[in-house]
Amino acid sequence: MNKIYLDNAATTPVKKEVVEAMLPYFTENFGNPSSVYQLAQINKKAIDEARETIAKCLGANTNEIFFTSGGTEADNWAIKGIAEVSKGKGNHIITSKIEHHAILHTCEYLEKQGYEITYLDVDSEGMVNPEDVKRAIKDTTILITIMYANNEIGTIMPISEIGKIAKEHNIPFHTDAVQAIGQVKIDVKEQNIDLLSLSGHKFNGPKGIGVLYIKRGLKIGTFIHGGAQERGRRAGTENVPGIVGLGKAIELAYEHFDDKVARLTTLRDELIEGLIRSIPYCKLNGHKTDRLPNNVNIGVEFVEGESLLLLLDMNGIAASSGSACTSGSLDPSHVLLALGLPHEKAHGSVRFTLGEQTTKEQIDFVIEKMPPIVQRMREMSPLYEDFLKTNK
Ligand SMILES: *Cc1c(COP(=O)(O)O)cnc(C)c1O
Repeated sequence: MNKIYLDNAATTPVKKEVVEAMLPYFTENFGNPSSVYQLAQINKKAIDEARETIAKCLGANTNEIFFTSGGTEADNWAIKGIAEVSKGKGNHIITSKIEHHAILHTCEYLEKQGYEITYLDVDSEGMVNPEDVKRAIKDTTILITIMYANNEIGTIMPISEIGKIAKEHNIPFHTDAVQAIGQVKIDVKEQNIDLLSLSGHKFNGPKGIGVLYIKRGLKIGTFIHGGAQERGRRAGTENVPGIVGLGKAIELAYEHFDDKVARLTTLRDELIEGLIRSIPYCKLNGHKTDRLPNNVNIGVEFVEGESLLLLLDMNGIAASSGSACTSGSLDPSHVLLALGLPHEKAHGSVRFTLGEQTTKEQIDFVIEKMPPIVQRMREMSPLYEDFLKTNK
């Protein structure tokens, strides 16, 4: 068992209060919310309450919140649903090169169906330039989808600026905010966001439950067909325990919001500075300040990221080399490549993502353990040996 869990961008532990809120909905409150008797009405009420809490946190109306099976489904629904209803208008979608695969692979699927996708470049810190969004707009553009914050490097995008541009051009704007929820304050109305995806398990809620916020009046196709649940727009018997858990998790995530963000930011910067100070030839990936309070992504030269992860693991530290989806494959991260990093540097990167349970002692432990591990790995690296010879 890992003692120090620093992979909270992959998933987070479910809080005890969340589990407790969910439990009755597995057992005594097991009714199908679509039924008419009281047992069902209790569940219907619980769903409505969760919907209200989520709407409040986003600055949305309750009838704009639709439950899905997670972030991936919400992303699929947003993109395919807009593509479907926009056939008469156009076939062009604008996104970025560093989106999550739930976005990128959906766009690639649509490309095969004849849609045209613009994958915007990002700068060396992972930032999309709003001017590039503006320049990419065509008469045929039907959707702009840019993530709120990147899951690998933590860069927070200029969402309000992009929202403004989308509104000026009357183009629906979707943002994958899965990583941002609980870490960045979001207001869908103020920021002109038409569609937003979130996922319970990234902020101490359960897995398998998410939300697509759909601005009232926006035309979007149905993605899951069947019964009349979610006002006929997303069929399937509601995941009542999941919905209740998601509601509780977002409520807790918004409690003491500023204090929590301040604490995480301090720990984050301690870890970044501690590692950069004690490990030569390493550098921070992503933006220094427009960055998720929990994200540390360090490029370490002359080491292979996957081996570094194994050695960290042997020291009880759970970290990641990028997204959980690309780990295990030998392809370097598409995000790090989009920053302009050469393959070998993209391979030598490690991501630590902090959570509410992370302590200063844990951060200090990583700062103590990692430099000697890197040193030992480099001593075995022919690349490093060559480098030392030529740079004497
Ligand atoms: C985790 C994640 C997703 C996928 O959400 P699931 O609920 O796991 O399907 C989508 N986008 C981003 C940015 C993520 O981090």
